[in-house]
Amino acid sequence: MKYDVFKIGGSILTSAKSYIDVALYIKKISEKKKLIIVVSASKGMTDLLIEFYDKNNKNALNEFIERYQNIVSYFNIPSLQDDFNKLINELLIISKNAENYDIKIRDKVLSFGEKISKLILYHSLKINDLNANPLNADEIIITDNRYGDAFIDISKTMNNLKNLNKDIYLIEGFIGKSYENNVTTLGRGGSDYTASALSYILKSDNLFLITDVKGIYSSDPRIVKNVKIVKKLDFEEAIEASIYNVKGINYKTFYPLINSNVNVYIGKLGDFNTLVNNSPNYNEKVKIFGFKNDNENKTIGLIGKGMNKDFIIKGVYKLFNGNYKDIIINRNGERPSIYIKVKTNDIQNFVNSLHDELIGDNI
Ligand code: ASP
Ligand code: MG
Repeated sequence: MKYDVFKIGGSILTSAKSYIDVALYIKKISEKKKLIIVVSASKGMTDLLIEFYDKNNKNALNEFIERYQNIVSYFNIPSLQDDFNKLINELLIISKNAENYDIKIRDKVLSFGEKISKLILYHSLKINDLNANPLNADEIIITDNRYGDAFIDISKTMNNLKNLNKDIYLIEGFIGKSYENNVTTLGRGGSDYTASALSYILKSDNLFLITDVKGIYSSDPRIVKNVKIVKKLDFEEAIEASIYNVKGINYKTFYPLINSNVNVYIGKLGDFNTLVNNSPNYNEKVKIFGFKNDNENKTIGLIGKGMNKDFIIKGVYKLFNGNYKDIIINRNGERPSIYIKVKTNDIQNFVNSLHDELIGDNI
């Protein structure tokens, strides 16, 4: 039997109870499947470490320790507390020597969000009679030397995963080991990328990206009112979507999968509503509106491989009554997206009308 890969997003890891909920869910599915569990840092923890390191804000580090300590205390397990103390001591020693900004030290510091989260999930599984085998991402996931935005070396990592024979493994997302033997991080949202690389390497049938929303939406619900769930994307569309910051998915996530047969399910625990795989599902209209900020402009990416670009561009012009002096539209060659650069303060209205007019029915 092949491994299914489950990535547990930090957005659902918010309390001791949430770790236990996740553990119970994993226990249930582990009865039928061999699993690799990829775990993110608990919600907000990576932000705190970044705030600490980049701004030398000691309060952020204290808050990081306190929030994790609260979760750890709940379990009341001496070996968990001991291992937690050891990790915190390591973090404090590294932080003490962190006077001068150094991207290598920064990655080391950032890695503790995931390391501690893995430890907590390990014990949450254990108290539910599930013995997961911990793997250390900073030994197994080999990356290049681009600290802060490292790329996984698939063939070297594959070599380290040749002899997996247990039913369930647990590994940190987001971190790896550089060619120079230092800890690296893969960039924000990088746990998705760890999980996709693992599912490619292990030729998994299924990869589950578990988060706090039901799936990928047709746009950012904080900006657009009438968003819909996107039911189906192919890998190229998903790459475009992550480049346009959709759902904070790391932009490297779907590259390893582009010629694979992996099915990627995105959603909440047991409630997956978006499927990404290599079979196309075209829509003449737009599937997703994503966003990028560049300087004073906002760039809106209209994503959907099957969209009728002439129709869409006409639609954009029509909607704005020929008054489009502040818009630059680019068909973007062979890419599945069109992008629109807008210099308008009223971006909210602009995007909402555009979305309602151009988004497809059955996406
Ligand atoms: N903890 C990391 C971040 O917040 C990686 C992840 O959550 O995927 O960016
Ligand atoms: Mg995340």
